Amino acid sequence: MPGGRANIPASESEEYFGWQDFDVKRDDVARGTACPVRACIAPLLQVPAGKSERPVCPVHGIRLHANTFVYWNGDGPSDKAHLRNFRIRPDLARKYVFASTEKAEKHRLGHEMSEDALSWNVFAGLLDAGTLRDATEFLTGRKIAAQPELYLWGERIDLAGGEPSRFEMLEKVGRELEREIRHFRTEPDVILHIPGQIVVCIEAKFGSGNTLAHESNAKADEKPTSVEGLVKRYLDRSSERTRKSIDREAIGSRLHGQLFRNIIFASEMAGKEDWQVVNLVSDEQWKETAPTSRSIEYSFENPEKDVRAYLNPDHRDRFTYRTWEDLYRRVVKEDKRLKKVADYMLSKSAHYKSAFKLA
Ligand SMILES: [Zn+2]
Repeated sequence: MPGGRANIPASESEEYFGWQDFDVKRDDVARGTACPVRACIAPLLQVPAGKSERPVCPVHGIRLHANTFVYWNGDGPSDKAHLRNFRIRPDLARKYVFASTEKAEKHRLGHEMSEDALSWNVFAGLLDAGTLRDATEFLTGRKIAAQPELYLWGERIDLAGGEPSRFEMLEKVGRELEREIRHFRTEPDVILHIPGQIVVCIEAKFGSGNTLAHESNAKADEKPTSVEGLVKRYLDRSSERTRKSIDREAIGSRLHGQLFRNIIFASEMAGKEDWQVVNLVSDEQWKETAPTSRSIEYSFENPEKDVRAYLNPDHRDRFTYRTWEDLYRRVVKEDKRLKKVADYMLSKSAHYKSAFKLA
C-alpha cells in the first residue's frame, strides 16, 4: 500500500460547508490542531498531499491547508469530493465538467477557493432559473435580445442534457492563434452566446488577481507572458477587424495578459457578430488581498482604465468590470427564482469567513 496508509478510511461525508459552519476562534483550530467545523472534536489524521502530509477530519471529510480547506473523500482525484462543492445542478456538472477532457485545473474543483466551483454554481444557477438574459444585461451594460447559450470552460451547458459539445469558434480560434501551445490554451471561464448576435467572454476571479504581462522564460510551446510576446502572438496574427478595434500604440508596459487574450479571442470568435469581455471579480476578496500583494504578475485593482486605453473609441464599451457582490444585489437578491443562488452566495466561505459582504 502506498505509504502504508491503507488504514485511513475514505471519508463518507457528503456535507457542504458555508462560513456559518466554521468556528475559527477556537484555540485548537487557530493552532491548526483541530477541525474548524463548529464543535467538532474528531482527532485529525495525516494524509499524503503532494510531497508532504496534511491533516484531514475524517468525520467532516475536509483536508486542511493554510487557512483554507479542500473536500476530501479519500486520496487521489475524487468526483465525490468535487461534487460537494457543486451545489447547483450537480447532475449537469458531472456530465459536462467532470467528464470533460479539455477542462484545465480539474484537480482544484474541490477547493474552498475554487473559482470554477463559484462560476459553476452562479452561472448554472442563472441558467437553470431562466435568468441568464437579465444577468447578461447587467454584466455587459447592454440591452440583450434573447436568452444566451451558456458555455463554461468551452463546454456547452445544456439543461436538456444533450451530448457534450464545445464552443466551436473557441476551438477554431485556438487552432489559429495557439497552434503550438501545448498546455493551458486560452479558455474563457464563461462564454454567453446569442447566435447571430453577440459573444460575451467572462474572466471570473475569486481569490486570485488578474494576470499582468511580465518578462519570463516562456518556452515555445507555452503562452507568452511578456507584452511584446502577447502582442505578437495574439494581435499581430488576428484578423483585420480585430486589429482595427485595438490601438497597438496605446498598449503600455502594464498589460493585463489574460484580459488581453480574452479580448482578442472574443473579437475573433465573434466574426461578424458583436462581442463583449467582462471581468467579474470579488470586491471583498480583492480588498483583503490587494494591500498585501506585492506580486508583479497579478493585479487586484479595477483594470477598466488600462484595458479601455487600448480599445479604439468605438469599442471602449466592449469591456466591462463587475463584481460578484453587485451581481448579487442587482440580479440575484430580489428574484425569487434565484433563491438557491442567493443562498449559495450568502453562505459562500473564503478562508472560513463570509466571502461576500452582501448586506
Ligand atoms: Zn470535523
